[in-house]
Amino acid sequence: MARRWAELPQVVKTPGQILGRHGVGCEGTHGVFPKCNLACTPCYHSRDANQVRVDGAHTLTHVANQMGLLRRLRGPRAHAQLIGGEVSLLAPDDHAAALSLMRAAGREPMSFTHGDVDEEYLDRLVLGPDGRPRFGRLSFAAHFDKFMFGRRGIERPASEAALNPYRQRFAAMTRAVGRRHGVRFFLAHNMTVTPANLGEVAAVVRDCHAMGYGMFSFQPAAFVGDDRRWHESYRQATPDAVWAEIERGAGTALDYRTFENGDVRCNRTAYGFYVGDRWYPFLDGGDPRDLAVRDAFFRYLGGVSFTGTPAPVLAVKLMRVVLRHPRTVPVAVGWLVRTLGRVGIGRLLRNLRHMRPLTFVMHQFMDAAAVAPAWELMQRGETADDPRLLETQQRLAACHYAMAHPETGTLVPACVQHSVLDPAENAELRRLLPLDPVRRRPAGRSGSPTAVAAPAAPAALPVPTTAGAACGGGRCG
Ligand code: SF4
Repeated sequence: MARRWAELPQVVKTPGQILGRHGVGCEGTHGVFPKCNLACTPCYHSRDANQVRVDGAHTLTHVANQMGLLRRLRGPRAHAQLIGGEVSLLAPDDHAAALSLMRAAGREPMSFTHGDVDEEYLDRLVLGPDGRPRFGRLSFAAHFDKFMFGRRGIERPASEAALNPYRQRFAAMTRAVGRRHGVRFFLAHNMTVTPANLGEVAAVVRDCHAMGYGMFSFQPAAFVGDDRRWHESYRQATPDAVWAEIERGAGTALDYRTFENGDVRCNRTAYGFYVGDRWYPFLDGGDPRDLAVRDAFFRYLGGVSFTGTPAPVLAVKLMRVVLRHPRTVPVAVGWLVRTLGRVGIGRLLRNLRHMRPLTFVMHQFMDAAAVAPAWELMQRGETADDPRLLETQQRLAACHYAMAHPETGTLVPACVQHSVLDPAENAELRRLLPLDPVRRRPAGRSGSPTAVAAPAAPAALPVPTTAGAACGGGRCG
């Protein structure tokens, strides 16, 4: 974390910066299963991605290599996304094996899906060959928006509201599987925003916040990926406009400066919780006492990894901090009292069964037209004169979302992966893992061990043609 902090550009070394203080950022896979079976506009995949066969052996080889490099360069703990095309096109056993590889590398994995999966697939993912659960917890990011075509039952959604039963179905399905097998699920909800659904964002937040998702992440569309699928001018869906809509849905202002993940021009985050139908921030950014709590958190708990740490181990770690730094006790008690006061004891008691943490996120990828020249200059060690390219360089330097290239020993921002490196990587993968011969499943989509020909030997990823590295990947983040 110290190295991460030291390498951040000065512009993001703010009091609320999480990178280097409580984490090293998010990570994602690329080129490990580029294919998807829905069609989106926009789509961040390069045009060859859907011509690459899903191949479990290839996936596992490259997930292991990429995670190994991330562990070496980014340290022993981080969140990582199993992302690329559609994760449920992997056979359940391959999917499970990939998650295990990620955990073995100290990564807390999250699988990215369009959510059009069957409960049977989730059962087979959870249960090992001995019929017992192989995981205690699983995380999914499910992407739903009306620009995704081909979802079973709603091939061309007329509105975001029309998708709500499908959002509900996915959440209910994971709950049922979790109950059946004693597995905890964390769910994030992802949604691309363009001018065509900007006005529906607030309703999605209002209608869906209680479905069981612990995070709502919105991605204003960028001009990246397959240019055949850029069907609109996206400019009106600015970060400010999208954030205002999220606030309208949450019914309150959302302060994204209390905690920051990288550059706020890329990411905005508001951490908090719902009590009934009202959302409250964990910390009130307008209250200096709460800001002191944040500073104490970074100072005393910054190095403690919460996610994925077994409860008894976490309890011991927290106790150790308290014993070493007794002043943390009054700070925590003061925060608790203020927070209870903000919510109100009456509301709290009335909604004891309807309290849940929920984080709002906005992440905007950058346009390929800006990333490519900015990255090229960075590879030459040059700072751009052009203000737009300079901003791009600053955002890339503070990137929160890294992808690994073991063949060059480098990490690259996901923007660079999608804008610069994906096309050549996927073209090469298409050659190494051709689709034919393909046997289509007669019904259903998910869990496709029968959807591909016999697996080929693991393919080597192509060496990137640019000086940095190559990436592949998804549209979410
Ligand atoms: S992937 Fe791009 S938009 Fe996202 S944090 Fe990195 S530089 Fe910013």
